[in-house]
Amino acid sequence: MARAYIGLGSNLAEPQRQLRSALDAIAALEETRLLRCSSFYRSAPVGPAGQPDYINAVAELETALAPLHLLDRLQAVEAAHGRERHVRWGARTLDLDILLLDAQRIDTPRLQVPHPRMTERNFVLVPLAELEPDLQLPSGESIQALLRQCPENRLEKI
Ligand code: ATP
Ligand code: MG
Ligand code: MG
Repeated sequence: MARAYIGLGSNLAEPQRQLRSALDAIAALEETRLLRCSSFYRSAPVGPAGQPDYINAVAELETALAPLHLLDRLQAVEAAHGRERHVRWGARTLDLDILLLDAQRIDTPRLQVPHPRMTERNFVLVPLAELEPDLQLPSGESIQALLRQCPENRLEKI
Protein backbone atom coordinates (compact mmCIF):
# COMPACT_ATOMS: atom_id res chain seq x y z
CA MET A 1 0.00 0.00 0.00
CA ALA A 2 1.18 3.50 -0.79
CA ARG A 3 0.29 6.62 1.14
CA ALA A 4 -0.97 9.27 -1.26
CA TYR A 5 -1.81 12.94 -0.83
CA ILE A 6 -4.29 14.35 -3.33
CA GLY A 7 -4.90 18.05 -3.92
CA LEU A 8 -8.54 18.89 -4.60
CA GLY A 9 -9.71 22.12 -6.20
CA SER A 10 -12.90 23.55 -7.68
CA ASN A 11 -14.22 26.96 -8.60
CA LEU A 12 -17.41 26.16 -10.54
CA ALA A 13 -20.84 24.70 -9.86
CA GLU A 14 -20.92 24.87 -6.05
CA PRO A 15 -17.26 24.12 -5.33
CA GLN A 16 -17.79 22.82 -1.80
CA ARG A 17 -20.35 20.35 -3.07
CA GLN A 18 -17.90 19.27 -5.79
CA LEU A 19 -15.22 18.55 -3.19
CA ARG A 20 -17.56 16.62 -0.91
CA SER A 21 -18.78 14.55 -3.83
CA ALA A 22 -15.20 13.94 -5.01
CA LEU A 23 -14.25 12.71 -1.52
CA ASP A 24 -17.15 10.23 -1.64
CA ALA A 25 -15.97 9.03 -5.05
CA ILE A 26 -12.37 8.68 -3.85
CA ALA A 27 -13.54 6.75 -0.78
CA ALA A 28 -15.32 4.33 -3.12
CA LEU A 29 -12.27 3.60 -5.33
CA GLU A 30 -11.15 0.00 -5.41
CA GLU A 31 -8.05 -0.96 -3.41
CA THR A 32 -8.08 2.48 -1.83
CA ARG A 33 -8.92 3.85 1.58
CA LEU A 34 -9.64 7.51 2.26
CA LEU A 35 -7.91 8.24 5.58
CA ARG A 36 -8.33 11.97 6.22
CA CYS A 37 -9.14 15.26 4.56
CA SER A 38 -7.93 18.71 5.55
CA SER A 39 -10.22 21.63 6.21
CA PHE A 40 -11.60 23.34 3.15
CA TYR A 41 -9.86 26.60 2.16
CA ARG A 42 -10.96 29.48 -0.07
CA SER A 43 -8.18 30.78 -2.32
CA ALA A 44 -7.61 33.49 -4.89
CA PRO A 45 -7.45 32.07 -8.43
CA VAL A 46 -4.04 31.55 -10.00
CA GLY A 47 -3.92 31.64 -13.79
CA PRO A 48 -6.31 33.45 -16.15
CA ALA A 49 -7.96 36.46 -14.50
CA GLY A 50 -11.68 36.85 -13.91
CA GLN A 51 -12.30 33.40 -12.40
CA PRO A 52 -14.25 32.79 -9.21
CA ASP A 53 -12.35 31.95 -6.02
CA TYR A 54 -11.34 28.33 -5.53
CA ILE A 55 -12.13 25.90 -2.79
CA ASN A 56 -9.13 23.67 -2.03
CA ALA A 57 -8.33 20.78 0.26
CA VAL A 58 -5.86 17.92 0.57
CA ALA A 59 -6.88 14.31 1.16
CA GLU A 60 -4.77 11.47 2.49
CA LEU A 61 -5.30 8.01 1.02
CA GLU A 62 -3.86 4.57 1.24
CA THR A 63 -3.92 2.77 -2.08
CA ALA A 64 -2.71 -0.42 -3.71
CA LEU A 65 -3.36 1.04 -7.17
CA ALA A 66 -0.31 1.56 -9.34
CA PRO A 67 0.44 5.28 -9.84
CA LEU A 68 -0.92 5.49 -13.39
CA HIS A 69 -4.02 3.54 -12.39
CA LEU A 70 -4.61 5.97 -9.56
CA LEU A 71 -4.27 8.83 -12.07
CA ASP A 72 -6.75 7.08 -14.40
CA ARG A 73 -9.27 6.72 -11.56
CA LEU A 74 -8.87 10.32 -10.44
CA GLN A 75 -9.28 11.59 -14.00
CA ALA A 76 -12.45 9.49 -14.29
CA VAL A 77 -13.75 11.15 -11.11
CA GLU A 78 -12.90 14.57 -12.61
CA ALA A 79 -14.76 13.65 -15.81
CA ALA A 80 -17.77 12.42 -13.84
CA HIS A 81 -17.86 15.87 -12.19
CA GLY A 82 -18.02 17.63 -15.54
CA ARG A 83 -14.37 18.60 -15.77
CA GLU A 84 -13.57 20.25 -19.10
CA ARG A 85 -10.16 21.44 -20.24
CA HIS A 86 -10.19 24.59 -22.35
CA VAL A 87 -7.47 27.00 -21.24
CA ARG A 88 -4.58 26.05 -18.99
CA TRP A 89 -5.37 26.78 -15.35
CA GLY A 90 -8.85 27.96 -16.36
CA ALA A 91 -11.95 27.61 -14.19
CA ARG A 92 -12.96 24.03 -13.43
CA THR A 93 -15.56 21.96 -11.61
CA LEU A 94 -12.94 19.62 -10.21
CA ASP A 95 -9.18 19.17 -10.22
CA LEU A 96 -7.58 16.18 -8.52
CA ASP A 97 -3.79 16.26 -8.49
CA ILE A 98 -1.51 13.60 -7.06
CA LEU A 99 0.83 15.56 -4.81
CA LEU A 100 2.87 12.81 -3.18
CA LEU A 101 3.08 9.03 -3.29
CA ASP A 102 5.21 7.98 -0.32
CA ALA A 103 8.73 9.15 -1.14
CA GLN A 104 8.44 8.11 -4.79
CA ARG A 105 9.71 10.27 -7.61
CA ILE A 106 7.95 9.74 -10.92
CA ASP A 107 8.83 11.65 -14.07
CA THR A 108 6.86 10.41 -17.06
CA PRO A 109 4.93 12.41 -19.67
CA ARG A 110 1.57 11.63 -18.01
CA LEU A 111 2.58 11.77 -14.39
CA GLN A 112 5.09 13.68 -12.33
CA VAL A 113 5.30 13.12 -8.59
CA PRO A 114 5.86 15.04 -6.39
CA HIS A 115 3.53 17.42 -8.21
CA PRO A 116 6.00 19.83 -9.83
CA ARG A 117 4.15 23.03 -8.89
CA MET A 118 3.04 22.16 -5.37
CA THR A 119 5.87 23.99 -3.62
CA GLU A 120 4.83 27.36 -5.06
CA ARG A 121 1.16 26.98 -4.07
CA ASN A 122 0.07 27.89 -0.59
CA PHE A 123 -3.39 26.44 -1.33
CA VAL A 124 -1.61 23.07 -1.49
CA LEU A 125 1.04 23.49 1.20
CA VAL A 126 -1.22 24.92 3.91
CA PRO A 127 -3.81 22.09 3.87
CA LEU A 128 -1.03 19.51 3.49
CA ALA A 129 0.76 20.94 6.52
CA GLU A 130 -2.50 20.87 8.44
CA LEU A 131 -2.53 17.08 7.94
CA GLU A 132 1.23 16.50 8.23
CA PRO A 133 3.05 19.34 10.00
CA ASP A 134 6.29 17.33 10.15
CA LEU A 135 6.23 16.14 6.54
CA GLN A 136 9.43 15.93 4.53
CA LEU A 137 9.33 15.85 0.76
CA PRO A 138 11.44 13.35 -1.22
CA SER A 139 13.85 16.26 -1.81
CA GLY A 140 14.49 16.36 1.93
CA GLU A 141 12.84 19.78 2.31
CA SER A 142 10.44 20.15 5.22
CA ILE A 143 6.94 21.36 4.62
CA GLN A 144 7.52 24.14 7.15
CA ALA A 145 10.53 25.45 5.20
CA LEU A 146 8.55 25.26 1.96
CA LEU A 147 5.71 27.21 3.54
CA ARG A 148 8.08 29.98 4.57
CA GLN A 149 9.39 30.26 0.98
CA CYS A 150 6.00 30.01 -0.72
CA PRO A 151 4.45 33.09 -2.40
CA GLU A 152 1.58 34.49 -0.36
CA ASN A 153 -1.69 34.22 -2.20
CA ARG A 154 -4.98 35.02 -0.52
CA LEU A 155 -6.09 31.94 1.39
CA GLU A 156 -8.58 31.48 4.20
CA LYS A 157 -9.72 28.43 6.10
CA ILE A 158 -13.45 27.91 5.86
P1 ATP B 1 -1.46 21.87 -12.62
O1 ATP B 1 -0.87 20.53 -12.96
O2 ATP B 1 -0.51 23.02 -12.82
O3 ATP B 1 -2.11 21.91 -11.26
P2 ATP B 1 -3.99 21.35 -13.83
O4 ATP B 1 -4.20 20.54 -12.59
O5 ATP B 1 -5.03 22.34 -14.22
O6 ATP B 1 -2.60 22.13 -13.73
P3 ATP B 1 -4.77 19.26 -15.53
O7 ATP B 1 -5.46 19.77 -16.77
O8 ATP B 1 -5.61 18.79 -14.39
O9 ATP B 1 -3.75 20.37 -15.05
O10 ATP B 1 -3.81 18.05 -15.91
C1 ATP B 1 -3.03 18.07 -17.06
C2 ATP B 1 -2.21 16.78 -17.09
O11 ATP B 1 -1.26 16.76 -16.03
C3 ATP B 1 -2.99 15.51 -16.87
O12 ATP B 1 -3.55 15.04 -18.05
C4 ATP B 1 -1.96 14.55 -16.29
O13 ATP B 1 -1.55 13.59 -17.23
C5 ATP B 1 -0.79 15.43 -15.97
N1 ATP B 1 -0.17 15.21 -14.65
C6 ATP B 1 1.18 15.12 -14.48
N2 ATP B 1 1.48 14.92 -13.19
C7 ATP B 1 0.29 14.90 -12.51
C8 ATP B 1 -0.03 14.73 -11.14
N3 ATP B 1 0.93 14.58 -10.20
N4 ATP B 1 -1.34 14.73 -10.80
C9 ATP B 1 -2.31 14.90 -11.74
N5 ATP B 1 -2.05 15.07 -13.06
C10 ATP B 1 -0.76 15.07 -13.46
MG1 MG C 1 -3.95 21.30 -10.63
MG1 MG D 1 -4.88 18.57 -12.46
